[in-house]
Amino acid sequence: MNEANNWVEKSKKHLWLPFTQMKDYEENPLIIAEGEGVYLTDVHGKKYLDGYSSLWLNVHGHRKREIDEAIIEQLQKISHSTLLGATNIPATELAEKLVEITPENLTRVFYSDSGAEAVEIALKLAFQYWRNLGHSSKQKFVTTKNGYHGDTVGAISVGAVDIFHTVYHPLMFDSYKVSFPNAYRNEHSDLEDVKNECLLEIEQLFAEKHEEIAAFIIEGMIQGAGGMNVMPDGYLKGIEQLCKKYNILLIVDEVATGFGRTGKMFSVEHENVQPDLMTIAKGITGGYLPIAATMTSEKVYEAFYGDYTELKTFFHGHSYTGNQLGCAAALANLELYKKEDIINTVQNKADFIAEKLQSLQELEHVGDIRQLGLMVGVELVKDKETKEPFPWGDRVGYYATLKMRDLGMLSRPLGDVVVFMPPLATTFEELEQMITIMKQAIKETTEVLATP
Ligand code: PMP
Repeated sequence: MNEANNWVEKSKKHLWLPFTQMKDYEENPLIIAEGEGVYLTDVHGKKYLDGYSSLWLNVHGHRKREIDEAIIEQLQKISHSTLLGATNIPATELAEKLVEITPENLTRVFYSDSGAEAVEIALKLAFQYWRNLGHSSKQKFVTTKNGYHGDTVGAISVGAVDIFHTVYHPLMFDSYKVSFPNAYRNEHSDLEDVKNECLLEIEQLFAEKHEEIAAFIIEGMIQGAGGMNVMPDGYLKGIEQLCKKYNILLIVDEVATGFGRTGKMFSVEHENVQPDLMTIAKGITGGYLPIAATMTSEKVYEAFYGDYTELKTFFHGHSYTGNQLGCAAALANLELYKKEDIINTVQNKADFIAEKLQSLQELEHVGDIRQLGLMVGVELVKDKETKEPFPWGDRVGYYATLKMRDLGMLSRPLGDVVVFMPPLATTFEELEQMITIMKQAIKETTEVLATP
């Protein structure tokens, strides 16, 4: 057995992969050995374009010299010391930088290790905030249908993508789930009406239940894992206004949308929204190391400040929180945003791909193409006219991405939505190549499935 096959056999024997049916993995194993720029290479030497930024987080491509060097430099000082009751230099410097680049009202940084944990922290903070202020009836959360905030028990309790959550229902706490203004699947053609109805539904809920609602949690400007559903203009702003009016905290989850993904550093900038809490992760280290953070306003922070005996302390913190190597990577990453003018280039690239993606509309089973910045979902449907989906068991999104893999590009689907989220540094030429592969893969897959 050659070395590559040996790795494959070992991976089948011992590993259990996240969000993966291992029977699928066994049929189509993949082991990445190296990366360079927007390419990943597997153990057999096959190269793939990284069409999903290694799960929505890579920014500058793989093996970016500046980030590599920053990690090596930090390694020569120290790799890790705890943040429980102490801090370190990179974590302190990064906190200052994060406060500079996030909305003005956010002044405090609570670190963690993953997007889901940043969400758990936001939920616990919002809950305890009201308790600390003496309003302990405010314990519930409001979320949008099809919203996604991670896979831990708190995060799934405020999530609403049925396929991920149904199994765990008995474990979850109840949240209010309000309608989302979906542009593709709605009863009216006028999205402005749909948006206003959704905002009215929220206002009615708030008017009736504000005494028991701690916070509203929502992704920034686009629902990611729920199918890449872009929010209509004014929707997030409308929610911010309602939260203020009814004394409810606003948590914006920028885990997927932060760090330039939507064409702004943070998606809340599209509408000048200032959340009380904001979760960030993924792109924070350029896609290198597991750092996340929950940003809060000073108002939230102050509610936790006092004598230890008052039990206002925030009881949360994991072993690796504020890891120096991760923070050093994040600092180098943020420097690159300035040096390489990433945000402006994302806007140009977004315009470029919007035009190129139009050619996918020709395909018989492309129902909708949704995009904000470099965050794209292509929804495949059985019937374009009626928007009838393919039968669930057909797994058309899964097979389309497997075909993409054959053709030299990696991604993961969201049901029948093919995801396209390349690293922000992908060149125009590489973007075009990726779109060509996607088109070819969708065409071949849907032709086979649609044949009676
Ligand atoms: N929130 C959002 C909006 C996400 O898209 C995700 C992951 N895709 C998460 C939270 C969870 O992040 P992580 O995988 O780092 O836990």
